[in-house]
Amino acid sequence: NPRRRRDPPELLREDVCRRRILLPKKRLESKVALVTGGAAGIGEAIVRLFREQGAKVCIADIQDEAGQKIRDSLGGDQYVLFVHCDVSVEEDVSRAVDATAEKFGTLDIMVNNAGITGQKVTDIRNVDFVEVRKVIDINLLGVFHGIKHAARIMIPNKKGSIISLASVASAIGGMGPHSYTASKHAVVGLTKSVAAELGKHGIRVNCVSPYAVPTDLSMPHLPQGERKDDALKDFLAFVGGEANLKGVDLLPKDIAQAVLYLASDEARYVSALNLMVDGGFTSVNLNLR
Ligand code: NAD
Repeated sequence: NPRRRRDPPELLREDVCRRRILLPKKRLESKVALVTGGAAGIGEAIVRLFREQGAKVCIADIQDEAGQKIRDSLGGDQYVLFVHCDVSVEEDVSRAVDATAEKFGTLDIMVNNAGITGQKVTDIRNVDFVEVRKVIDINLLGVFHGIKHAARIMIPNKKGSIISLASVASAIGGMGPHSYTASKHAVVGLTKSVAAELGKHGIRVNCVSPYAVPTDLSMPHLPQGERKDDALKDFLAFVGGEANLKGVDLLPKDIAQAVLYLASDEARYVSALNLMVDGGFTSVNLNLR
């Protein structure tokens, strides 16, 4: 009798089943991601968090040994693939995207994370354009290549999330070398432009802009044994920044959490955003504190 009252245990079972379907425990269950520059720093934190949240991940990096070590520490090539890839070389990025789709069946999430700061010279009269080109090739063209080849897989699927690492230097000047600031502003422009095109295909395109995080990039010349917080202070003195949130260390995993949000279906209506993870640094007047 369809109108009979269902007893509580039956209702309970149904509720449990519904919850399993609607609320998967892992936020990236059955997703496939590619993270450029995933062998160190923020990229490594993204790879580890994505894996923890159920994604299969490809690390595309120039550091073979470090990348392979992370792959092995996360259960080997059943779950994590390592591909040698210089993001400034389009064929490398294209190959990494194809290898990921071949190995894991598709590509749902592309994280364009690889980046460099370039030379520390901020005197415009002494700018070295060989250095500038290198920064633009990696930080901007590297992202361009990543978006282009991810879109090749995502458009037929009618879904996907592309996230690129920008920086607080994408919003203000005086936070590093001119080439770095120019490249990161350009990443935001590129993100908005491509988001406008790919929205109709169900693909979201965003970026994340961290304040200073202690990694090899932010502290390239850290002498052996020196305390990391001293080195971070030196770095901040160099870039001319002062933290807004006193006493809070910004860590790679904080950035990874922001990237995870944009990668997940929870952000299904979020596109063309530059998500600042800077403790308010670029939006508050530090002189008024
Ligand atoms: P990192 O130097 O610690 O790691 C960068 C990774 O990218 C390394 O594994 C490196 O081998 C790889 N890489 C470098 N050049 C590459 C290339 N041509 N092709 C492929 N891989 C390459 O850097 P990080 O601090 O983790 O920075 C990651 C991203 O976050 C960068 O885009 C950076 O601009 C951005 N960011 C960092 C900070 C910070 O304070 N650390 C702040 C704002 C933005």
